[in-house]
Amino acid sequence: MTNEELWGKALTDIESDVSKANFITWFKNTAICDRLEGEITVGVPNAFVKEWLEHKYHIYILKALRNHAPETRNVAFSIIPRLSSDATKPLHEPQNKKYFAEEQPEISELVVDRETNLNSRYTFDNFVVGSFNELAHAASKAVTKNLGTLYNPLFIYGGVGLGKTHLLQSIGNEIKKSDPNLKIKYISSEKFTNEFISALQNSETASFKEKYRAIDLLIIDDIQFIAKKIQTQEEVFHTFNTLYEKNKQIVFSSDRPPKSIENIEERLRSRFEGGMITDISEPEYEARFAILKTKAAEKNLAISDEILSHIATIIQSNIRELEGALNSVIARSNLLNKTLNTEEIKNFLSKNIKPKRIATAQQIIQTVASFYNIPEKHLFEKSRRKEIVKPRQIAMFLLREDFNGSYPYIGQKFGGRDHTTAIHSYDKICKELKKSEQLTEEIRQIRSRFYNNGE
Ligand code: ADP
Ligand code: MG
Repeated sequence: MTNEELWGKALTDIESDVSKANFITWFKNTAICDRLEGEITVGVPNAFVKEWLEHKYHIYILKALRNHAPETRNVAFSIIPRLSSDATKPLHEPQNKKYFAEEQPEISELVVDRETNLNSRYTFDNFVVGSFNELAHAASKAVTKNLGTLYNPLFIYGGVGLGKTHLLQSIGNEIKKSDPNLKIKYISSEKFTNEFISALQNSETASFKEKYRAIDLLIIDDIQFIAKKIQTQEEVFHTFNTLYEKNKQIVFSSDRPPKSIENIEERLRSRFEGGMITDISEPEYEARFAILKTKAAEKNLAISDEILSHIATIIQSNIRELEGALNSVIARSNLLNKTLNTEEIKNFLSKNIKPKRIATAQQIIQTVASFYNIPEKHLFEKSRRKEIVKPRQIAMFLLREDFNGSYPYIGQKFGGRDHTTAIHSYDKICKELKKSEQLTEEIRQIRSRFYNNGE
């Protein structure tokens, strides 16, 4: 068997083990470049791919190679720049035509099914998995394979734009595909509330209850919004119980874990906590880069790794922003009707990404410490001294507001504190801001400092 044949066979196996998006992103432009006495070297186009294959796909690759060449003992990766896709060439023109010639279907926007509220754009296939969302992804997948029996409910929490809705919808879409007869409903808790209120007003609660209690898979997004809505909470509680007793699957998402949702009934909270709880945190640089690469591939974009890396560096907050930046680059080059070079794109981004997006966690912490004239490390210590507590709370508040950090992330950052501390600090500063002009001014000044430094 030639190297090419062996790699072709291995790729076919790997393809069935990983999602299509990940497959295209990480295995395009790879080849076996050396094979000697059971030691195989796979050539990859750049350092990112090398690192990703080494850390995330090593086992899959080894397994696949051994399937077809049982003498394989080890696999190593080596960067072979000529394998790299040339930035001027569209990304979908791969070298290994046999495996990548198939065009990716355009992901159509807003194809929402009226019955289920599912948008076919969100699938597991185009969901990039990294360490920041690995558990949430695994739990979601597991739910699709053990509907109603394994993790019930599944509760996923995390900050804005980190992929909660995408995952929840993927569960729905996957189930819809595997069993079109099942009744699936995706709904945000706000919509659920509105529907319930209008049912109350029109004396249609009986049919409302009937509808929701006959569902096989109920997905409620952003459940935190039912805080303070007593009647809706009661309705969710009874719907939950009915479904749960029938082994029907329920999935929730929220911006915070159940125990930090204020103003909800205890019995409902304990239902949320009764199954599997998992979070999505902020993607690291590598994951941000991976996501951009996948998005660019999906859109068949000719965009170099250098530019993607630049975007992944300047945008740290969340995935929605990453996509936004990528889209704005595309829009810009469409508008000018030409392919922009790296300098032009960097220029464009630096002018158009609002300063808000530039704040990094480090900048925020540094600025707050220097503004209040305390050593940075004091912010992380357990001190309860007033002159430390206030800056610390402000730093947490700004990490939430300007960096979009999740509460667990912020808690972690500040000396491994619990996320409830982060929530408490955030809420405290929000309340204070309403009362204190002095504080408002201090925060304004801090912001102007780190934004100026960030440019
Ligand atoms: P949330 O519901 O947590 O606010 P979304 O699910 O709406 O976030 O995600 C924001 C955007 O980022 C969506 O367009 C989504 O498709 C995309 N996205 C989020 N996570 C991923 C991921 N892991 N891989 C690919 N795209 C992602
Ligand atoms: Mg969402």
